Amino acid sequence: MFCRAIGILRFAQDDKLPAVSLMPLIDKYSRPITDLRVSITDRCNYKCVYCRTGNEGAQYADLPMADYLRMVRVMVGLGIEKVRLTGGEPLLRKGVVEFVRELAALRTLRGEKLDIALTTNGHLLADMAQPLKDAGLTRVTVSMDAVDPEKFARITRVHNGYENVRAGIAAARKAGLDPVKVNCVLMRGFNDDQIVEFGKFAREEDVVVRFIEFMPLEEDRVWSPQIVVTLEEILIRMAEFMPLTEIHHARSETARRYVFEDGRGEIGIIAPVSQPFCGQCSRIRITSDGKIRTCLFSQMDHDLYGVMQRGNDDVVAKFIEGVVNKKEARHHIGEPGFQKPSRSMVHIGG
Ligand code: SF4
Repeated sequence: MFCRAIGILRFAQDDKLPAVSLMPLIDKYSRPITDLRVSITDRCNYKCVYCRTGNEGAQYADLPMADYLRMVRVMVGLGIEKVRLTGGEPLLRKGVVEFVRELAALRTLRGEKLDIALTTNGHLLADMAQPLKDAGLTRVTVSMDAVDPEKFARITRVHNGYENVRAGIAAARKAGLDPVKVNCVLMRGFNDDQIVEFGKFAREEDVVVRFIEFMPLEEDRVWSPQIVVTLEEILIRMAEFMPLTEIHHARSETARRYVFEDGRGEIGIIAPVSQPFCGQCSRIRITSDGKIRTCLFSQMDHDLYGVMQRGNDDVVAKFIEGVVNKKEARHHIGEPGFQKPSRSMVHIGG
């Protein structure tokens, strides 16, 4: 208990976090756990080459939205302040707009609104952006790995996706889901020729483009260190078009942030392989079938849904606290003995 109090005090000073009594969820490395990602379905309407083999469909069940709502409500009572909805593809899930409305009614330990975000492939976003915004969604992230329609189709293995995604991004901006972020997973020899094009896209479309270093979380065996395009390399290649200047990013934010030297257009780089940020990790995840994952690279699931069936909210809260105490210090990508996680990204939810 003593070390947890020290951890809380230290963070409260650095990060404008609330006083001790309002911040119960701290792991054994003194990291406040304030961000929750909830996968509300394992199904996806895309078959991205770096994510899925394209043969398997959904492997885990979806739970009733009421179960996710109870899980989130207990977690918010333990200090969660940001909730991100993920999948598979969350917009495939019927009732997602109503679920956002219910989440928006919750209040954090500080009495503030939850920061509710959603990550989508954008295929269904054009018609849903405004209803999601009206229901209380704060911001949206669209996964898009090419600004070239043909390359986009080759990566997603879906023929009519590109125009849908562009329309979705435009609708999200129009609805005021601000900022609209566009995430691109870079793979050498696949789409690393899109770096400068995405730089121009960020400037022209006024969206924040974030490049993500490819992690060994795929269903197949595509990953190797050689295929990773690192932060350093992205900066060098973008400078051929226009140099970037780094700007401040929040402690628990995964992306390093940059603006072009003329001030127009923001780029983010998420570099878990070359510049890991596990020391500030504030995230835990709930899978579509109700398991807690304390890290993307965990070797085990924790059966929250099972505990929920047997116990009241106090029992559930105690279970969550115990699980958070088991959170891994960091990933071990590229180290001898590195083990791929027990689930691939599509079955975790990003
Ligand atoms: S690898 Fe695990 S510990 Fe590191 S930032 Fe990701 S989820 Fe957090």
